[in-house]
Amino acid sequence: MELLKKKRIALVAHDNMKRDLAEWVDWNWEILLKHHLICTGTTGKMVAATLMEKRGNESGRFDITLLKSGPLGGDQQLGSLIAEGSIDMVIFFWDPMMAQPHDVDVKALLRLASVYNVPLALNRSTADFLISSPLFEGEYMPVVKDYRGYIERTLEHK
Ligand code: PGA
Repeated sequence: MELLKKKRIALVAHDNMKRDLAEWVDWNWEILLKHHLICTGTTGKMVAATLMEKRGNESGRFDITLLKSGPLGGDQQLGSLIAEGSIDMVIFFWDPMMAQPHDVDVKALLRLASVYNVPLALNRSTADFLISSPLFEGEYMPVVKDYRGYIERTLEHK
């Protein structure tokens, strides 16, 4: 799967980290507006509000998709999009200080990002490195492991 110039970027933040993500979006809004943003519900509303504020009176809509709220299935929806090859990058400001009711969904999402070698930032400094990478603005082909050996494995039947 080729990571095209216009990327499909997932943005998620746990409640205690939403302020951080809003600041990060505020800082990087001009770059982010060129891409398609896919967010869990509450994060998405906050991201849209921040972008609207930054863009001011400039016309034109921005490309944002709001999934369900994370604990209500949004993380699972995102995981499914990753498995389909519809997400190019995940920025996930997770909260390392608080257990979440949907911890298992978060774990599943992070696992799938690793399975498909999707660039993944779990904190703000990594997000800074990703967005300022020379690879960010260009086209990039992530190497995805060949899982045919696993898919075609022989199973013993009784
Ligand atoms: P939210 O979900 O954006 O709907 O708050 C984030 C999360 O996965 O906790």
